[in-house]
Amino acid sequence: MAGGSSDIRIYFQCGKGFADPRGLGYFSVKSMETMNDTMAKLFGEVNKLAGTSLGWMLAWDLTAAERKLNWMDKGTSVVHVLRSPSNSLIPSSITKSSGGDAAGRTATLDDGVLSEIYVENNMPADKLAHIAFHELMHNRLDVGATVVPINNSSDPMKAGIHDIALGGGGLAATPTTGYGQLTAKNASLMAKNLVTTVKQSTKHLLG
Ligand SMILES: [Zn+2]
Repeated sequence: MAGGSSDIRIYFQCGKGFADPRGLGYFSVKSMETMNDTMAKLFGEVNKLAGTSLGWMLAWDLTAAERKLNWMDKGTSVVHVLRSPSNSLIPSSITKSSGGDAAGRTATLDDGVLSEIYVENNMPADKLAHIAFHELMHNRLDVGATVVPINNSSDPMKAGIHDIALGGGGLAATPTTGYGQLTAKNASLMAKNLVTTVKQSTKHLLG
């Protein structure tokens, strides 16, 4: 699932135990393949609109040993795939976050940034992939990095990438419908910032 060399590495991590979305039955290998295809399409559009030739790698459910080798790499983001917001890995005390909705949320934990998306009510898988891309924007641009200032508004509907003037609307806009269009500004922001290092939280990865 790579487009040449892997400048961008996205690790999807399914929830643990009862929160495992695969327990829902409809979140199958087929859904993962559809998400991979849709993410590839979006990264292809980023390259086209931004005039770049970034390569990517998408992986699901790495083993603990693989994660230890890979999670620190440049260009890496982890997206936790959870059943519903009630399975969130983000403590309620966390304040630096995307606000979030029934689609996904990104927050800075004490050891790094954590992005999550919710399967329930957000299928089919191509829609879920668009939601994953939106959370990746938070991961790479405002919550996990400071490219776009997330404190520019106290209203979460207008803060950070949600501000159309800053994030470029389209896939950055909220609420996350799952079917926003990638805009030229979305693409140029992501092309510049998908390949940097944003420290990812590992507390729900290791062990
Ligand atoms: Zn958002």
